[in-house]
Amino acid sequence: DSHGKEFGPKKKLPLQDDNSKGLCPKKKLTPEQVKQALVEEAGRLGIDKIGFATADPFTELKERLVRHRENGFESGFEEQDLDKRTDPRLSLPEARTIIAIALAYPTRMENPPANRPGEYRGLFCRASWGQDYHRVLRRKLEGLERRLQELVPDVTTEIMVDTGALSDRAVAERAGIGFIGKNTSLITPEFGSWVFLGEMLVDIALPPDQPVTAGCGDCTACIDACPTGALVAPGQLNSQACLAYQTQTKGFLAEEYRDLLGGYLYGFETCQAVCPFNRKKNFTHQEDFRPDPEQVKPLLKPLLSISNREFRERFGSMAGSWRGKKPIQRNAIIALARFRDRTAVPDLIRLLQEDPRPVIRGTAAWALGRIGGTEAEEALCDAERNEKDPDVWREVEKALKNRSTLDTEERRDREAQG
Ligand code: SF4
Repeated sequence: DSHGKEFGPKKKLPLQDDNSKGLCPKKKLTPEQVKQALVEEAGRLGIDKIGFATADPFTELKERLVRHRENGFESGFEEQDLDKRTDPRLSLPEARTIIAIALAYPTRMENPPANRPGEYRGLFCRASWGQDYHRVLRRKLEGLERRLQELVPDVTTEIMVDTGALSDRAVAERAGIGFIGKNTSLITPEFGSWVFLGEMLVDIALPPDQPVTAGCGDCTACIDACPTGALVAPGQLNSQACLAYQTQTKGFLAEEYRDLLGGYLYGFETCQAVCPFNRKKNFTHQEDFRPDPEQVKPLLKPLLSISNREFRERFGSMAGSWRGKKPIQRNAIIALARFRDRTAVPDLIRLLQEDPRPVIRGTAAWALGRIGGTEAEEALCDAERNEKDPDVWREVEKALKNRSTLDTEERRDREAQG
């Protein structure tokens, strides 16, 4: 093989058997043996799946991404350079192989705290449970990297987890970890799509694995269940309409989405929850991803007044805190409105009157309109007179209009109860 690094005699440092410390000449390992040693190390490191793929460009993916961009379906969080996203050699010029890994995460909490009137709770999606997976997967990949460096001392590597240029899912699919479903998740036959993915580019050729043969077949459960129609076609997601993405934005949440969040503070996972490959899957063996119920299903009201420092202390180790506390607080206000929590009204009024952030004041106004009652109404009328920010003022106006509907409903309820 004339490309990249060789396993032959031209190498400055020959491939070594890790335990050949004696006086005899060191034994060269074949690519197959290097791969086998890495597979064994992955098992020792607690990696659930490992696969090997070539580092050739992802040509089909690039065509899809171009169309995706033209349609305005990007979230804006992704790597903007489509060549970098689809050509591994733009990240590591000598890349020959991509080693992909997957770690399974749990889907059920033991003893989840209950929602009670006045003590309502919000929810972080499962991909945010436990330690931030970026850190956990990087640690695992660094373990593999160390082993590879023992076997091939002059190997060059590049680790990526989610925030790297490449598409983790496309890499994992090529490496035989799973297939990409119509919901755009990477689905493994063993763990469903409840897996985190990461990869390491290396400049040596290792034997690639075969892609898995399973697929969605005729199923369309995720497309049918998506409340915003964000799955515009099988495997095609309009990220702008995806509620998981919307929970992470820092501006106002568009009104049509507010009633659809269902108590989520971060992320949204209906398209995974309904998938038959995920049915009854709950893998709890990864200690790092065990959820702390008070962290992943926190009380909503205390979130409204949490300080930056306390937020970092309580949630900073989670993937779901990466955008800071504002989106979480905005979503907490929306969740309180969903529960029509009257006990939250004083806190919401305080936010409407005092919070310096327009998004928080405006969302609080909307929530007060939803919850209703005399106090809420008076606060909204005050805000109508005093609010200077046009976006917040518009929310106040809408809330006052909604309020009249609510009061009518309330009157009807009272009359019905005699
Ligand atoms: Fe595929 Fe059905 Fe799962 Fe969607 S819900 S990803 S269509 S198997």
